[in-house]
Amino acid sequence: MRLDATDLRYVTADEFRVLTAVEIGSKNHEVVPSPLIAELSGIRGGNVRKALGDLSKRDLVARVQNVHYDGYRLTYGGLDYLSLRTFSRRKPASVHSVGNKIGVGKESDIYIVADETGEKRCLKLHRLGRISFRAIKSKRDYLGKRRSASWMYMSRLSAQKEFAFMKALYQHGFPVPVPIDQARHCVVMSLIDGYPLRSVDVVDDPADLYSKLMELIVRLAHSGLIHGDFNEFNIMLLRKTGEPIVIDFPQMVSTRHENAEYFFNRDVNCIRRFFKRRFRYEGATWPTWKDVLEGEDEVEQNGSADAAETEEGEEGQADTTEEQAESSKTAEKRVRIDLEVEASGFGRIMQRELEDYMIEVQDMPASDGEEEEQESDEDEDDDEEEEEEKAEAESSKTSAPEEPFSEEAFQKQMAARMEALRLSRALGNDDPEDLDPELQAQLSDHSLTDPSSDSDSDADSDDSVGPAPTDFTSYMPSQRNTRRFHPRLTVKKLGEKDGVKDTVAKEREVMERRAKPRDVGAKLGKAKGHKWKSSEKFMVGKDSGW
Ligand code: ADP
Ligand code: MG
Repeated sequence: MRLDATDLRYVTADEFRVLTAVEIGSKNHEVVPSPLIAELSGIRGGNVRKALGDLSKRDLVARVQNVHYDGYRLTYGGLDYLSLRTFSRRKPASVHSVGNKIGVGKESDIYIVADETGEKRCLKLHRLGRISFRAIKSKRDYLGKRRSASWMYMSRLSAQKEFAFMKALYQHGFPVPVPIDQARHCVVMSLIDGYPLRSVDVVDDPADLYSKLMELIVRLAHSGLIHGDFNEFNIMLLRKTGEPIVIDFPQMVSTRHENAEYFFNRDVNCIRRFFKRRFRYEGATWPTWKDVLEGEDEVEQNGSADAAETEEGEEGQADTTEEQAESSKTAEKRVRIDLEVEASGFGRIMQRELEDYMIEVQDMPASDGEEEEQESDEDEDDDEEEEEEKAEAESSKTSAPEEPFSEEAFQKQMAARMEALRLSRALGNDDPEDLDPELQAQLSDHSLTDPSSDSDSDADSDDSVGPAPTDFTSYMPSQRNTRRFHPRLTVKKLGEKDGVKDTVAKEREVMERRAKPRDVGAKLGKAKGHKWKSSEKFMVGKDSGW
Protein backbone atom coordinates (compact mmCIF):
# COMPACT_ATOMS: atom_id res chain seq x y z
CA MET A 1 0.00 0.00 0.00
CA ARG A 2 1.44 3.26 -1.16
CA LEU A 3 1.17 6.29 1.03
CA ASP A 4 1.70 9.25 -1.18
CA ALA A 5 2.09 12.38 0.86
CA THR A 6 2.47 14.58 -2.19
CA ASP A 7 -1.06 13.63 -3.12
CA LEU A 8 -2.34 15.32 -0.01
CA ARG A 9 -1.63 18.74 -1.37
CA TYR A 10 -3.62 18.19 -4.51
CA VAL A 11 -6.98 17.30 -3.12
CA THR A 12 -9.39 20.11 -3.88
CA ALA A 13 -11.98 21.35 -1.44
CA ASP A 14 -14.71 19.65 -3.48
CA GLU A 15 -12.83 16.39 -3.58
CA PHE A 16 -12.31 16.53 0.13
CA ARG A 17 -16.00 17.17 0.72
CA VAL A 18 -16.88 14.24 -1.48
CA LEU A 19 -14.34 11.96 0.17
CA THR A 20 -15.70 12.87 3.57
CA ALA A 21 -19.21 12.20 2.32
CA VAL A 22 -18.12 8.73 1.19
CA GLU A 23 -16.64 8.08 4.61
CA ILE A 24 -19.73 9.27 6.42
CA GLY A 25 -21.97 7.36 4.06
CA SER A 26 -19.94 4.25 4.85
CA LYS A 27 -21.33 4.42 8.32
CA ASN A 28 -24.52 2.90 7.02
CA HIS A 29 -23.61 1.67 3.58
CA GLU A 30 -21.03 -0.79 2.43
CA VAL A 31 -21.21 0.83 -0.97
CA VAL A 32 -22.30 4.42 -0.76
CA PRO A 33 -24.83 5.28 -3.47
CA SER A 34 -23.80 8.25 -5.60
CA PRO A 35 -26.96 10.28 -4.89
CA LEU A 36 -26.28 9.97 -1.19
CA ILE A 37 -22.73 11.21 -1.73
CA ALA A 38 -24.13 14.20 -3.58
CA GLU A 39 -26.67 14.78 -0.86
CA LEU A 40 -24.16 14.59 1.98
CA SER A 41 -21.50 16.66 0.31
CA GLY A 42 -23.96 19.32 -0.72
CA ILE A 43 -22.21 19.62 -4.07
CA ARG A 44 -24.01 19.71 -7.39
CA GLY A 45 -24.27 16.54 -9.43
CA GLY A 46 -21.73 17.26 -12.15
CA ASN A 47 -19.08 18.35 -9.72
CA VAL A 48 -19.70 15.35 -7.52
CA ARG A 49 -19.19 12.99 -10.40
CA LYS A 50 -16.07 14.80 -11.44
CA ALA A 51 -14.67 14.70 -7.92
CA LEU A 52 -15.55 11.02 -7.60
CA GLY A 53 -13.88 10.32 -10.93
CA ASP A 54 -10.71 12.14 -9.87
CA LEU A 55 -10.67 10.51 -6.47
CA SER A 56 -11.09 7.07 -7.93
CA LYS A 57 -8.27 7.65 -10.44
CA ARG A 58 -6.04 8.22 -7.44
CA ASP A 59 -7.45 5.18 -5.63
CA LEU A 60 -8.91 7.19 -2.78
CA VAL A 61 -12.34 5.76 -3.53
CA ALA A 62 -13.34 2.80 -5.65
CA ARG A 63 -16.36 2.54 -7.81
CA VAL A 64 -18.47 -0.53 -7.28
CA GLN A 65 -20.99 -1.18 -9.94
CA ASN A 66 -22.73 -4.44 -10.45
CA VAL A 67 -26.16 -5.92 -10.38
CA HIS A 68 -26.47 -5.19 -6.69
CA TYR A 69 -24.74 -1.88 -6.22
CA ASP A 70 -23.77 1.28 -7.94
CA GLY A 71 -21.78 3.57 -5.83
CA TYR A 72 -18.43 4.12 -4.21
CA ARG A 73 -16.54 2.86 -1.27
CA LEU A 74 -13.59 4.27 0.56
CA THR A 75 -10.24 2.57 -0.06
CA TYR A 76 -7.33 2.31 2.33
CA GLY A 77 -5.77 5.14 0.32
CA GLY A 78 -8.78 7.33 1.05
CA LEU A 79 -8.77 6.45 4.70
CA ASP A 80 -5.00 7.12 4.89
CA TYR A 81 -5.54 10.47 3.27
CA LEU A 82 -8.29 11.48 5.70
CA SER A 83 -6.21 10.40 8.68
CA LEU A 84 -3.12 12.23 7.51
CA ARG A 85 -5.17 15.30 6.91
CA THR A 86 -6.52 15.04 10.45
CA PHE A 87 -3.01 14.69 11.86
CA SER A 88 -1.70 17.56 9.82
CA ARG A 89 -4.47 19.82 11.07
CA ARG A 90 -3.99 19.23 14.74
CA LYS A 91 -2.53 22.17 16.54
CA PRO A 92 0.34 21.56 16.60
CA ALA A 93 0.32 19.10 13.71
CA SER A 94 1.17 15.60 14.86
CA VAL A 95 2.25 14.67 11.34
CA HIS A 96 3.59 17.30 9.01
CA SER A 97 5.44 15.21 6.47
CA VAL A 98 5.68 11.58 5.52
CA GLY A 99 8.97 9.81 4.89
CA ASN A 100 10.01 6.25 4.15
CA LYS A 101 8.23 3.09 4.90
CA ILE A 102 10.27 1.28 7.53
CA GLY A 103 8.22 -1.76 8.18
CA VAL A 104 5.45 -3.87 6.91
CA GLY A 105 3.75 -6.35 9.16
CA LYS A 106 1.07 -8.88 8.41
CA GLU A 107 -1.48 -6.28 9.33
CA SER A 108 0.26 -2.93 9.42
CA ASP A 109 2.45 -0.50 7.51
CA ILE A 110 5.03 1.55 9.38
CA TYR A 111 6.31 4.90 8.16
CA ILE A 112 8.74 7.49 9.38
CA VAL A 113 6.96 10.83 9.59
CA ALA A 114 7.94 14.20 10.98
CA ASP A 115 6.28 17.04 12.83
CA GLU A 116 6.61 20.70 11.88
CA THR A 117 9.97 21.04 13.57
CA GLY A 118 11.29 18.09 11.59
CA GLU A 119 11.36 15.77 14.58
CA LYS A 120 10.93 12.22 13.38
CA ARG A 121 8.08 10.06 14.52
CA CYS A 122 6.63 6.70 13.71
CA LEU A 123 3.27 6.26 12.00
CA LYS A 124 1.61 2.88 12.18
CA LEU A 125 -1.27 2.24 9.82
CA HIS A 126 -3.34 -0.71 10.88
CA ARG A 127 -4.49 -2.78 7.92
CA LEU A 128 -6.61 -5.58 9.14
CA GLY A 129 -8.34 -6.04 5.83
CA ARG A 130 -5.30 -7.68 4.32
CA ILE A 131 -6.69 -10.93 5.45
CA SER A 132 -9.64 -11.53 3.24
CA PHE A 133 -12.88 -11.04 5.06
CA ARG A 134 -14.50 -13.35 2.60
CA ALA A 135 -12.23 -16.13 3.76
CA ILE A 136 -13.42 -15.81 7.30
CA LYS A 137 -17.05 -15.37 6.50
CA SER A 138 -18.03 -18.96 7.05
CA LYS A 139 -16.34 -18.98 10.41
CA ARG A 140 -17.87 -15.99 11.99
CA ASP A 141 -21.49 -16.74 12.48
CA TYR A 142 -21.09 -15.69 16.07
CA LEU A 143 -20.65 -12.14 14.94
CA GLY A 144 -24.02 -10.54 14.95
CA LYS A 145 -25.10 -8.08 12.33
CA ARG A 146 -23.72 -5.21 14.29
CA ARG A 147 -20.57 -6.76 15.61
CA SER A 148 -19.43 -7.90 12.25
CA ALA A 149 -16.08 -7.18 10.77
CA SER A 150 -15.29 -4.62 8.16
CA TRP A 151 -11.73 -3.71 7.35
CA MET A 152 -12.19 -0.10 8.31
CA TYR A 153 -13.87 -0.88 11.57
CA MET A 154 -11.45 -3.59 12.63
CA SER A 155 -8.40 -1.52 11.66
CA ARG A 156 -9.71 1.36 13.65
CA LEU A 157 -10.44 -0.84 16.62
CA SER A 158 -6.92 -2.19 16.44
CA ALA A 159 -5.41 1.32 16.36
CA GLN A 160 -7.59 2.44 19.24
CA LYS A 161 -6.55 -0.53 21.28
CA GLU A 162 -2.89 -0.06 20.53
CA PHE A 163 -3.03 3.59 21.48
CA ALA A 164 -5.03 2.94 24.65
CA PHE A 165 -2.55 0.37 25.91
CA MET A 166 0.52 2.27 24.82
CA LYS A 167 -0.72 5.32 26.62
CA ALA A 168 -1.49 3.48 29.84
CA LEU A 169 1.81 1.59 29.75
CA TYR A 170 3.73 4.76 29.09
CA GLN A 171 2.03 6.54 31.96
CA HIS A 172 3.03 3.73 34.27
CA GLY A 173 6.64 3.89 33.24
CA PHE A 174 6.87 0.85 31.00
CA PRO A 175 9.50 0.98 28.26
CA VAL A 176 7.24 1.63 25.26
CA PRO A 177 7.22 4.30 22.54
CA VAL A 178 5.72 7.64 23.50
CA PRO A 179 2.10 7.66 22.34
CA ILE A 180 1.46 10.85 20.40
CA ASP A 181 -1.77 10.70 18.46
CA GLN A 182 -4.41 8.38 17.06
CA ALA A 183 -7.05 8.82 14.42
CA ARG A 184 -9.06 6.27 12.51
CA HIS A 185 -6.75 3.33 11.76
CA CYS A 186 -3.52 5.20 12.54
CA VAL A 187 -1.27 5.62 15.54
CA VAL A 188 1.52 8.17 15.81
CA MET A 189 4.26 7.40 18.33
CA SER A 190 7.85 8.28 18.97
CA LEU A 191 10.39 6.72 16.68
CA ILE A 192 12.57 4.25 18.50
CA ASP A 193 16.21 4.76 17.67
CA GLY A 194 17.18 1.14 17.74
CA TYR A 195 16.82 -2.28 16.18
CA PRO A 196 14.31 -5.04 16.49
CA LEU A 197 15.78 -7.83 18.60
CA ARG A 198 15.20 -10.09 15.64
CA SER A 199 18.00 -8.40 13.70
CA VAL A 200 20.47 -8.37 16.57
CA ASP A 201 23.07 -11.13 16.39
CA VAL A 202 25.19 -10.36 19.40
CA VAL A 203 24.45 -8.71 22.73
CA ASP A 204 26.98 -7.88 25.41
CA ASP A 205 25.21 -9.69 28.20
CA PRO A 206 22.48 -12.09 27.11
CA ALA A 207 21.76 -13.11 30.71
CA ASP A 208 21.11 -9.51 31.65
CA LEU A 209 18.80 -8.92 28.70
CA TYR A 210 17.03 -12.22 29.32
CA SER A 211 16.31 -11.30 32.89
CA LYS A 212 15.18 -7.81 31.95
CA LEU A 213 12.70 -9.23 29.48
CA MET A 214 11.38 -11.81 31.92
CA GLU A 215 11.02 -9.12 34.56
CA LEU A 216 9.09 -7.08 32.07
CA ILE A 217 6.71 -9.97 31.39
CA VAL A 218 6.10 -10.38 35.11
CA ARG A 219 5.76 -6.65 35.71
CA LEU A 220 3.19 -6.50 32.96
CA ALA A 221 1.28 -9.43 34.45
CA HIS A 222 1.36 -7.84 37.87
CA SER A 223 -0.28 -4.84 36.26
CA GLY A 224 -2.97 -7.12 34.86
CA LEU A 225 -1.56 -7.49 31.36
CA ILE A 226 -0.10 -10.06 29.02
CA HIS A 227 1.47 -8.75 25.84
CA GLY A 228 0.37 -11.74 23.79
CA ASP A 229 3.05 -11.34 21.12
CA PHE A 230 6.15 -10.81 23.21
CA ASN A 231 8.82 -11.93 20.78
CA GLU A 232 11.94 -10.81 18.93
CA PHE A 233 9.84 -8.90 16.37
CA ASN A 234 8.13 -6.75 18.97
CA ILE A 235 11.08 -5.94 21.18
CA MET A 236 13.47 -3.24 20.06
CA LEU A 237 16.85 -2.51 21.57
CA LEU A 238 17.88 1.11 21.88
CA ARG A 239 20.92 1.86 19.78
CA LYS A 240 22.66 3.83 22.52
CA THR A 241 21.99 1.78 25.63
CA GLY A 242 20.76 -1.58 24.41
CA GLU A 243 17.74 -1.23 26.69
CA PRO A 244 14.65 -3.08 25.48
CA ILE A 245 11.53 -1.23 24.31
CA VAL A 246 8.31 -3.14 23.76
CA ILE A 247 6.06 -2.36 20.79
CA ASP A 248 2.94 -3.72 19.07
CA PHE A 249 -0.03 -3.95 21.43
CA PRO A 250 -3.22 -4.86 19.55
CA GLN A 251 -3.20 -8.40 20.89
CA MET A 252 -2.69 -7.56 24.56
CA VAL A 253 -4.95 -9.39 26.97
CA SER A 254 -5.89 -9.03 30.59
CA THR A 255 -4.61 -11.52 33.17
CA ARG A 256 -8.30 -12.21 33.78
CA HIS A 257 -8.63 -13.59 30.28
CA GLU A 258 -9.82 -17.19 30.15
CA ASN A 259 -6.63 -18.24 28.33
CA ALA A 260 -4.35 -15.91 30.26
CA GLU A 261 -2.08 -18.67 31.47
CA TYR A 262 -1.61 -19.98 27.96
CA PHE A 263 -0.74 -16.52 26.59
CA PHE A 264 1.59 -15.82 29.49
CA ASN A 265 3.50 -19.08 29.01
CA ARG A 266 3.67 -18.51 25.29
CA ASP A 267 5.30 -15.11 25.81
CA VAL A 268 7.80 -16.57 28.26
CA ASN A 269 8.61 -19.48 25.97
CA CYS A 270 9.10 -17.22 22.95
CA ILE A 271 11.90 -15.45 24.79
CA ARG A 272 13.43 -18.65 26.11
CA ARG A 273 13.43 -20.22 22.67
CA PHE A 274 14.83 -17.18 20.96
CA PHE A 275 17.67 -16.75 23.45
CA LYS A 276 18.59 -20.39 23.14
CA ARG A 277 18.60 -20.27 19.38
CA ARG A 278 20.15 -16.89 18.78
CA PHE A 279 22.47 -16.31 21.73
CA ARG A 280 22.94 -19.91 22.86
CA TYR A 281 21.73 -18.78 26.22
CA GLU A 282 19.49 -20.96 28.32
CA GLY A 283 18.04 -19.29 31.39
CA ALA A 284 18.06 -21.50 34.48
CA THR A 285 14.81 -19.97 35.68
CA TRP A 286 11.84 -18.35 34.12
CA PRO A 287 8.59 -16.93 35.43
CA THR A 288 5.55 -19.14 35.76
CA TRP A 289 1.86 -18.43 36.00
CA LYS A 290 2.07 -19.27 39.68
CA ASP A 291 4.28 -16.22 40.22
CA VAL A 292 1.57 -14.09 38.68
CA LEU A 293 -1.20 -15.67 40.74
CA GLU A 294 0.71 -15.07 43.93
CA GLY A 295 0.68 -11.43 43.04
CA GLU A 296 -3.06 -11.61 42.41
CA ASP A 297 -3.63 -13.18 45.84
CA GLU A 298 -1.81 -10.33 47.44
CA VAL A 299 -4.08 -7.90 45.75
CA GLU A 300 -7.13 -9.86 46.88
CA GLN A 301 -6.01 -10.05 50.47
CA ASN A 302 -5.61 -6.35 50.41
CA GLY A 303 -9.25 -5.94 49.67
CA SER A 304 -8.41 -3.46 46.95
CA ALA A 305 -11.08 -2.33 44.53
CA ASP A 306 -9.86 -4.83 41.99
CA ALA A 307 -10.21 -7.73 44.38
CA ALA A 308 -13.94 -7.55 44.07
CA GLU A 309 -13.54 -8.50 40.43
CA THR A 310 -11.74 -11.75 41.15
CA GLU A 311 -12.63 -14.79 43.16
CA GLU A 312 -12.10 -14.24 46.82
CA GLY A 313 -9.65 -16.73 48.35
CA GLU A 314 -10.34 -18.38 51.71
CA GLU A 315 -6.94 -17.33 52.91
CA GLY A 316 -8.19 -13.79 52.87
CA GLN A 317 -9.16 -14.45 56.49
CA ALA A 318 -5.69 -15.52 57.58
CA ASP A 319 -3.85 -13.70 60.33
CA THR A 320 -1.68 -10.92 59.07
CA THR A 321 1.95 -11.72 59.57
CA GLU A 322 4.74 -9.26 59.06
CA GLU A 323 5.55 -10.82 55.76
CA GLN A 324 1.98 -10.47 54.59
CA ALA A 325 1.92 -6.88 55.66
CA GLU A 326 5.01 -6.27 53.59
CA SER A 327 3.59 -7.97 50.53
CA SER A 328 0.34 -6.12 51.05
CA LYS A 329 2.22 -2.89 50.76
CA THR A 330 3.66 -3.94 47.44
CA ALA A 331 0.27 -5.07 46.24
CA GLU A 332 -1.33 -1.84 47.26
CA LYS A 333 1.01 -0.05 44.96
CA ARG A 334 0.08 -2.32 42.13
CA VAL A 335 -1.95 -0.89 39.34
CA ARG A 336 -4.38 -2.73 37.16
CA ILE A 337 -3.72 -1.34 33.72
CA ASP A 338 -6.19 -3.75 32.14
CA LEU A 339 -8.97 -2.20 34.24
CA GLU A 340 -7.70 1.29 33.60
CA VAL A 341 -7.81 0.79 29.86
CA GLU A 342 -11.29 -0.69 30.09
CA ALA A 343 -12.45 2.30 32.05
CA SER A 344 -10.80 4.72 29.66
CA GLY A 345 -13.10 3.84 26.81
CA PHE A 346 -11.62 0.78 25.19
CA GLY A 347 -14.05 -1.56 26.88
CA ARG A 348 -14.33 -5.31 27.06
CA ILE A 349 -16.75 -5.61 24.19
CA MET A 350 -14.40 -3.82 21.83
CA GLN A 351 -11.52 -5.95 23.03
CA ARG A 352 -13.56 -9.07 22.53
CA GLU A 353 -14.50 -8.04 19.01
CA LEU A 354 -10.91 -7.49 18.05
CA GLU A 355 -9.81 -10.66 19.72
CA ASP A 356 -12.43 -12.72 17.93
CA TYR A 357 -11.18 -11.32 14.68
CA MET A 358 -7.57 -12.02 15.52
CA ILE A 359 -8.28 -15.59 16.51
CA GLU A 360 -10.12 -16.10 13.24
CA VAL A 361 -7.42 -14.74 11.00
CA GLN A 362 -4.24 -15.85 12.71
CA ASP A 363 -3.73 -18.82 10.42
CA MET A 364 -5.15 -17.28 7.30
CA PRO A 365 -2.97 -16.34 4.37
CA ALA A 366 -2.91 -12.67 3.46
CA SER A 367 -4.88 -11.95 0.33
CA ASP A 368 -2.39 -11.50 -2.45
CA GLY A 369 -1.87 -8.65 -4.87
CA GLU A 370 -4.06 -5.72 -4.08
CA GLU A 371 -4.70 -5.70 -0.38
CA GLU A 372 -8.24 -4.62 -0.62
CA GLU A 373 -10.94 -6.65 -2.15
CA GLN A 374 -11.96 -5.38 -5.51
CA GLU A 375 -15.29 -6.08 -7.00
CA SER A 376 -14.70 -8.13 -10.09
CA ASP A 377 -17.31 -6.34 -12.06
CA GLU A 378 -16.27 -2.82 -11.33
CA ASP A 379 -16.86 -0.54 -14.21
CA GLU A 380 -14.11 2.02 -14.29
CA ASP A 381 -14.41 3.84 -17.57
CA ASP A 382 -17.63 5.12 -18.80
CA ASP A 383 -16.57 7.59 -21.44
CA GLU A 384 -20.02 8.88 -22.17
CA GLU A 385 -20.61 9.64 -18.56
CA GLU A 386 -17.24 11.28 -18.22
CA GLU A 387 -18.03 13.64 -21.07
CA GLU A 388 -21.29 14.52 -19.48
CA GLU A 389 -19.56 15.08 -16.16
CA LYS A 390 -17.05 17.40 -17.71
CA ALA A 391 -19.74 19.43 -19.36
CA GLU A 392 -21.73 19.70 -16.18
CA ALA A 393 -18.68 20.55 -14.13
CA GLU A 394 -17.77 23.29 -16.54
CA SER A 395 -21.24 24.76 -16.51
CA SER A 396 -21.44 24.84 -12.74
CA LYS A 397 -17.97 26.26 -12.26
CA THR A 398 -19.06 29.81 -12.75
CA SER A 399 -22.06 29.57 -10.49
CA ALA A 400 -20.33 28.03 -7.49
CA PRO A 401 -17.58 30.23 -6.05
CA GLU A 402 -15.39 28.53 -3.48
CA GLU A 403 -16.18 29.41 0.10
CA PRO A 404 -13.68 29.23 2.91
CA PHE A 405 -13.94 25.70 4.15
CA SER A 406 -13.96 24.42 7.71
CA GLU A 407 -13.29 20.73 8.01
CA GLU A 408 -14.75 20.40 11.49
CA ALA A 409 -17.91 22.29 10.71
CA PHE A 410 -18.38 20.30 7.58
CA GLN A 411 -17.95 16.95 9.28
CA LYS A 412 -20.37 17.96 11.97
CA GLN A 413 -22.88 19.20 9.49
CA MET A 414 -22.69 16.07 7.39
CA ALA A 415 -22.86 13.75 10.35
CA ALA A 416 -25.84 15.68 11.63
CA ARG A 417 -27.53 15.47 8.27
CA MET A 418 -26.96 11.77 8.11
CA GLU A 419 -28.18 11.36 11.66
CA ALA A 420 -31.25 13.48 11.02
CA LEU A 421 -32.13 11.45 7.97
CA ARG A 422 -31.69 8.24 9.86
CA LEU A 423 -33.61 9.42 12.88
CA SER A 424 -36.50 10.82 10.96
CA ARG A 425 -37.05 7.43 9.48
CA ALA A 426 -36.31 5.40 12.58
CA LEU A 427 -38.76 7.41 14.66
CA GLY A 428 -41.37 7.43 11.96
CA ASN A 429 -42.95 10.52 13.45
CA ASP A 430 -42.00 12.97 10.77
CA ASP A 431 -44.41 14.06 8.11
CA PRO A 432 -43.97 11.29 5.64
CA GLU A 433 -44.79 13.57 2.73
CA ASP A 434 -41.68 15.60 3.51
CA LEU A 435 -39.49 12.73 2.58
CA ASP A 436 -39.30 11.15 -0.76
CA PRO A 437 -40.07 7.51 -0.02
CA GLU A 438 -37.49 6.21 -2.39
CA LEU A 439 -34.78 8.42 -1.02
CA GLN A 440 -35.82 7.50 2.48
CA ALA A 441 -35.64 3.85 1.68
CA GLN A 442 -32.30 4.29 0.05
CA LEU A 443 -30.91 6.16 3.00
CA SER A 444 -31.77 3.57 5.53
CA ASP A 445 -32.70 0.26 4.02
CA HIS A 446 -29.09 -0.49 3.28
CA SER A 447 -28.25 0.24 6.84
CA LEU A 448 -26.53 -2.47 8.79
CA THR A 449 -25.89 -0.38 11.83
CA ASP A 450 -27.75 -1.01 15.00
CA PRO A 451 -29.02 2.36 16.23
CA SER A 452 -27.87 1.49 19.72
CA SER A 453 -24.30 1.66 18.52
CA ASP A 454 -24.73 5.38 18.31
CA SER A 455 -23.97 5.68 21.98
CA ASP A 456 -20.37 5.34 20.92
CA SER A 457 -20.50 8.35 18.71
CA ASP A 458 -18.49 11.44 19.36
CA ALA A 459 -19.50 13.94 16.78
CA ASP A 460 -17.40 16.56 18.47
CA SER A 461 -14.35 14.98 16.97
CA ASP A 462 -13.14 16.12 13.67
CA ASP A 463 -12.85 12.60 12.45
CA SER A 464 -15.34 10.81 14.57
CA VAL A 465 -17.60 9.92 11.77
CA GLY A 466 -15.77 6.99 10.33
CA PRO A 467 -17.50 3.91 9.21
CA ALA A 468 -19.36 1.83 11.70
CA PRO A 469 -19.11 -1.90 11.84
CA THR A 470 -20.62 -3.04 8.63
CA ASP A 471 -20.40 -6.46 7.22
CA PHE A 472 -19.08 -6.69 3.74
CA THR A 473 -19.75 -10.30 3.14
CA SER A 474 -23.14 -10.62 4.74
CA TYR A 475 -24.25 -7.53 2.97
CA MET A 476 -25.21 -9.43 -0.12
CA PRO A 477 -28.08 -11.41 1.36
CA SER A 478 -29.41 -8.37 3.13
CA GLN A 479 -29.26 -6.51 -0.15
CA ARG A 480 -31.23 -9.23 -1.84
CA ASN A 481 -33.91 -8.99 0.81
CA THR A 482 -34.06 -5.28 0.34
CA ARG A 483 -34.55 -5.75 -3.33
CA ARG A 484 -37.32 -8.21 -2.80
CA PHE A 485 -39.33 -5.78 -0.72
CA HIS A 486 -38.37 -2.70 -2.66
CA PRO A 487 -38.04 -3.97 -6.17
CA ARG A 488 -37.20 -0.56 -7.62
CA LEU A 489 -34.55 0.22 -5.12
CA THR A 490 -31.33 0.43 -7.02
CA VAL A 491 -29.12 3.42 -7.28
CA LYS A 492 -29.31 3.38 -11.02
CA LYS A 493 -33.02 3.60 -11.03
CA LEU A 494 -33.02 6.39 -8.57
CA GLY A 495 -30.43 8.26 -10.58
CA GLU A 496 -32.39 7.89 -13.76
CA LYS A 497 -35.62 8.89 -12.23
CA ASP A 498 -36.85 12.28 -13.32
CA GLY A 499 -36.77 14.93 -10.71
CA VAL A 500 -34.37 13.19 -8.39
CA LYS A 501 -32.34 16.36 -8.07
CA ASP A 502 -35.41 18.23 -6.94
CA THR A 503 -36.12 15.55 -4.43
CA VAL A 504 -32.64 15.72 -3.05
CA ALA A 505 -32.75 19.51 -2.88
CA LYS A 506 -36.09 19.39 -1.13
CA GLU A 507 -34.83 16.71 1.17
CA ARG A 508 -31.82 18.77 2.12
CA GLU A 509 -33.87 21.83 2.77
CA VAL A 510 -36.28 19.93 5.00
CA MET A 511 -33.49 18.27 6.88
CA GLU A 512 -31.49 21.38 7.40
CA ARG A 513 -34.53 23.17 8.71
CA ARG A 514 -35.49 20.33 10.95
CA ALA A 515 -32.22 19.01 12.21
CA LYS A 516 -30.49 22.27 13.05
CA PRO A 517 -27.18 20.59 12.38
CA ARG A 518 -25.10 22.69 14.70
CA ASP A 519 -27.22 21.85 17.70
CA VAL A 520 -27.25 18.19 16.86
CA GLY A 521 -23.50 18.13 16.42
CA ALA A 522 -22.85 19.91 19.66
CA LYS A 523 -25.17 17.65 21.57
CA LEU A 524 -23.63 14.52 20.19
CA GLY A 525 -20.21 15.85 20.97
CA LYS A 526 -21.06 16.44 24.59
CA ALA A 527 -22.90 13.17 24.93
CA LYS A 528 -19.71 11.24 25.29
CA GLY A 529 -16.51 12.98 26.17
CA HIS A 530 -13.22 11.24 26.03
CA LYS A 531 -10.89 10.93 28.90
CA TRP A 532 -7.82 11.61 26.77
CA LYS A 533 -9.21 14.55 25.01
CA SER A 534 -8.50 16.91 27.85
CA SER A 535 -5.16 15.41 28.72
CA GLU A 536 -2.49 18.08 28.63
CA LYS A 537 0.28 15.58 28.85
CA PHE A 538 -0.08 14.18 25.40
CA MET A 539 -1.08 15.44 22.07
CA VAL A 540 -3.87 13.00 22.03
CA GLY A 541 -6.12 12.00 19.18
CA LYS A 542 -9.49 13.58 19.35
CA ASP A 543 -11.49 10.75 17.97
CA SER A 544 -12.64 8.00 20.18
CA GLY A 545 -15.23 6.03 18.36
CA TRP A 546 -17.98 6.51 15.97
P1 ADP B 1 2.92 -5.35 13.32
O1 ADP B 1 1.68 -5.26 14.14
O2 ADP B 1 2.63 -5.34 11.87
O3 ADP B 1 3.82 -6.47 13.76
P2 ADP B 1 4.75 -3.58 14.70
O4 ADP B 1 4.17 -2.55 15.60
O5 ADP B 1 5.31 -4.77 15.34
O6 ADP B 1 3.69 -3.97 13.59
O7 ADP B 1 5.86 -2.87 13.82
C1 ADP B 1 6.49 -3.53 12.75
C2 ADP B 1 7.95 -3.09 12.66
O8 ADP B 1 8.01 -1.68 12.49
C3 ADP B 1 8.72 -3.38 13.92
O9 ADP B 1 9.28 -4.66 13.91
C4 ADP B 1 9.77 -2.31 13.92
O10 ADP B 1 10.86 -2.68 13.12
C5 ADP B 1 9.07 -1.14 13.26
N1 ADP B 1 8.53 -0.23 14.27
C6 ADP B 1 7.31 -0.26 14.83
N2 ADP B 1 7.14 0.73 15.71
C7 ADP B 1 8.28 1.43 15.72
C8 ADP B 1 8.74 2.60 16.43
N3 ADP B 1 7.98 3.25 17.30
N4 ADP B 1 9.98 3.04 16.15
C9 ADP B 1 10.78 2.41 15.27
N5 ADP B 1 10.41 1.33 14.58
C10 ADP B 1 9.18 0.82 14.80
MG1 MG C 1 4.89 -6.74 15.40
